[in-house]
Amino acid sequence: MLVLFDIDGTLLRTEGAGVRAMVATFRELHGDLGFSLEGVQMAGGLDRLIWRDVCARHGLDASNAAHARFREAYGVRLQTDLTHAQTRAMPGAAALVHAAHASGAGVGLLTGNYEHTAHIKVDRAGIAPRYFPFGAFGDEGATRRDLPPLAMDRARAHYGREFTPSQTIVIGDTVLDIDCAKANGCVALGVATGATSTEVLMDSGADLAVETLADTQSILAWMQRVTARA
Ligand SMILES: [Mg+2]
Repeated sequence: MLVLFDIDGTLLRTEGAGVRAMVATFRELHGDLGFSLEGVQMAGGLDRLIWRDVCARHGLDASNAAHARFREAYGVRLQTDLTHAQTRAMPGAAALVHAAHASGAGVGLLTGNYEHTAHIKVDRAGIAPRYFPFGAFGDEGATRRDLPPLAMDRARAHYGREFTPSQTIVIGDTVLDIDCAKANGCVALGVATGATSTEVLMDSGADLAVETLADTQSILAWMQRVTARA
């Protein structure tokens, strides 16, 4: 099986430090235009879309070159601003990553974060980025639905074997994680450590929703069962 982890609200929380670093980056590049991410779709969103929303609000240059400058500056800022103390690993997240590896599963990221900042966040939460040898990231699709096929292609390239959608599990904390899994025929595991309840995650089509990832062995057993059926 292939297990794809979302980051924010699923593996970890940065208690607002990620958002603050983004706002500070806009200020650094454009001056103080009263930037805020209030009202912007953050949870389950893609960093490039968040950037584009803010640019539209303030009438900023939204070219590819401007985006590349933002992504670079945000990466530099997060690298220095985000501390281990601000980054809280979610209960059981690291243990589940390790257990999935130990079981022989493919393990990667499926996240709205940029690749560089994804790895910074994971590192600050105390999970070595090498546990995620590939992923699909927040500047690689028009919507989150574009990301699972990319992650599956990269898994095939990395492990040298094929993973079908029904052997692929997307783990995330928002209805957009569930949606991107189901839209691609993948298995969706919702976790309520973000802002969305297990009920809402189940109603949005999750195959299973759990309060936390703490029960490593039963979650791993469920993932093995549901993908073996495939
Ligand atoms: Mg999330």
